[in-house]
Amino acid sequence: MWDLDYESVREITAVLDSHGFAMSKKFGQNFLLPEPVRSRIADLAGDIRGKTVWEVGPGLGALTEQLIKRGAVLTCFEIDHGFAKILKEEAFFDEPLFSLVEGDALKTMKGISDHPYAIMGNLPYNVGSLIIADMIERAVLPEIMVFTLQKEVVDRMDAKPGNKDYSSFSVLCQLDYAPYCAFNIGRKNFFPEPNVDSAVVVMRKKDELHDIDRKAFSFLVRTLFSQRRKTVRNNLIPLTGKDRVDQVLDAAGINPGERAENLSLEDLLRLHGRLC
Ligand code: SAM
Repeated sequence: MWDLDYESVREITAVLDSHGFAMSKKFGQNFLLPEPVRSRIADLAGDIRGKTVWEVGPGLGALTEQLIKRGAVLTCFEIDHGFAKILKEEAFFDEPLFSLVEGDALKTMKGISDHPYAIMGNLPYNVGSLIIADMIERAVLPEIMVFTLQKEVVDRMDAKPGNKDYSSFSVLCQLDYAPYCAFNIGRKNFFPEPNVDSAVVVMRKKDELHDIDRKAFSFLVRTLFSQRRKTVRNNLIPLTGKDRVDQVLDAAGINPGERAENLSLEDLLRLHGRLC
């Protein structure tokens, strides 16, 4: 492993300059600097020695080095070919437990049939939420996921019914996992400094999982939340037709005049059961 000081903006800039690279806003590139924060994030995954861990968006390896130190069997997914070259050829070329998949993780992760024990990443919020939703819909369900994301996204992930942040994404995140915000990270901890604060979310898999078609469930929930001010009944009509809607809601024990934002996970699962 190389000995780059990940806390030093001067050293990071020197590496990028020496390769003629610049940070890309397009890929949400902001490096997490303080070692205690990176170490705390890595610890949230628990004992990962000898276990398969995926890291999405390693950048120059700020979290990667922490995961390698803890003995993880690590596969990283990086979209930036410049960073990928540095990771493979300089930073971790001599690490037997490190491997790298280049390209858009949203596509490349689908090509791997093995499921990891843990997934970690410090990600731009749009990529982070798409990856989490995609994993859950495809029933790729690691024991634990630890993501550093924009604070507002984390607020949505653990929001409960009736809360303004409760959304279809909250429901999907809480289907198989119990997400919680481990701690917040102020924007000053990143280089370059982003316009938003971040938070670290931990998603631990529940003991008992629902045996359902997750894609169909996700579609139902998105449909119900598609127009938040409409009633459940009105949002459901495109799926059931007008003739069936009242019968389905009645069988599921749901008030037709209710809004999706007040329905619990159990309500939504019952409704899904009635539609199958
Ligand atoms: N992990 C590093 C750290 O904490 O300092 C870098 C984090 S930076 C916020 C996000 C990283 O995700 C960048 O390296 C970026 O190139 C990468 N990235 C963005 N979109 C991606 C995608 N769709 N697939 C894989 N990597 C992606």
